[in-house]
Parts: sequence; structure tokens; C-alpha cells
Amino acid sequence: MKRKEKPGVIQDRVLHFLLRTNKSVSEIALLSDCSVSFVRLTMRRLKGDYFQRVKMHIPFPFKTKQPVSNAQPPKIQSDGVSLVRDVLRYIGEDPDRPGLQDTPARVVAMWKEVFRGYEEAELPKMTKFQNGADGIIYNEMLIDTGYFFSHCEHHMVPFFGEYSYGYIPDKWIIGASKISRIVDHFSARLQVAERLVCQIVDTIEKEIQPKGSILIMKARHLCKEMRGVKKYNTPFEAIAVRGYFLHNINHCKDEFLTRVR
Ligand SMILES: [Zn+2]
Repeated sequence: MKRKEKPGVIQDRVLHFLLRTNKSVSEIALLSDCSVSFVRLTMRRLKGDYFQRVKMHIPFPFKTKQPVSNAQPPKIQSDGVSLVRDVLRYIGEDPDRPGLQDTPARVVAMWKEVFRGYEEAELPKMTKFQNGADGIIYNEMLIDTGYFFSHCEHHMVPFFGEYSYGYIPDKWIIGASKISRIVDHFSARLQVAERLVCQIVDTIEKEIQPKGSILIMKARHLCKEMRGVKKYNTPFEAIAVRGYFLHNINHCKDEFLTRVR
């Protein structure tokens, strides 16, 4: 039997239905046609990191387990570019003035780069070698140092600095460049220093089960320097300690600290 509904009512129900049944839909761009037996629409669906335009015919009334409620449809998320345009307006800017026209797209592209660490698939493959495979068993401490950039999850501003990672191998040795890649991976998220050190150390621990491992990350936090207490160039340090280093066995923690200071 045909139902008499106003297009606006159907549109609300389509939005509600899609948002409830299809979590990857983040925005309905255009409802192009409504009829009493089906709804034809074009929507934008998040596919990986990109929005994909999808055309769909949806039978109406919908076959759902629960009756469609009359509650307000959930608020639809914005895409990145309109989000940044809103931010520009919010801080008092005109997103359409010449200097800012390309800024939203540029910011979205930058976010894709600096927040790439949410993609599980991006976790670097950890090349490891059997300790002693070439006839020499390495029992001493190995240390890798480098720099990193991350963003504080409380203010979304950068914190950045140097890391020093040390481990005493057991059966496995990790490829030297892999440590910095793992540091980069977990840094490319909104973070707090305390969690970041643990995620890095535990990921490597899981892979190579060393006798012990230790990581110090010393960073300047812009949320502490450019705002709030405004303490310029006052690094904040976090440490994660596992295995031998916990009990300073054979003075390994002392040795590490002497070698990295
Ligand atoms: Zn902060």
C-alpha cells in the first residue's frame, strides 16, 4: 500500500535510518528524489580516509526491526574541510578571504599526515633477527635515539622532543630503523606522554621479548609554553621501564642513564 508522506518527513526518516544502520555514512549530501515506494539519494560515505559519493535507492517504508521513532535524527558529522571553515569562523576569521581559501583543505591534508597513527595497518612491520644467527650472541645493551613529534590530547597542540630507547636482547634483535618507525607511529595520534612511552615499549616488548627495555621521551609541550603557565623551553620527561631495568639488574638502568645523558 502506498504511503502519503511529505518529502521532508521521508528525508528525516532516511537520515535516521542510514545513521542507525550504516555507521560509515557520515553525511547525506543531497536527497535528490522522494517517492512513496523508494527514496533515491546521493550521499557521502567515508571510505578509508576519503569521502566517496554513493548513489542509492532505498525501499520505503524501511524494513527495520524497531519502529522508526519520531525523535530528532542524530546530528550529522561534518567533513574535514567544512569543519576547518567553521573553526576559522569561530575564531573570528573569514574563511573566504583570499589568504585562507586553500587553508581548510591544507589543514585536512596535514591532519591526515600527523594523525596517521590511528590506522592499525600503518603499524610498521617489525623486522627482527635471531640473536646469534650469525654465530655471535649479543648480550649487551642496544640504544636508539631520535626525535619525535606528537600532539597533546588535552589541547591538540604539538609536543615534541627526543627519545632514547634501550633494550637488552634475548632471542631477538629488532631492526635499528624500526624503533624510530614505531615511535613515529604512536606519536602520530593525540597523546599524553605517559601513555605514549608505554605504547611504544609494550609494542616492542611483545615482538622481541627482550630481557629488559627502557624508554625516555623528553619533550617540549606547547600547551605548557604558549598558553597557561607559559613556561618557555621547559621539557617534560616521561619514562617506561620493563624487565631488567625495573630492578637495575647488573646496573643496567645506571648504564643506560649514563650513556644517554
Ligand atoms: Zn596539553
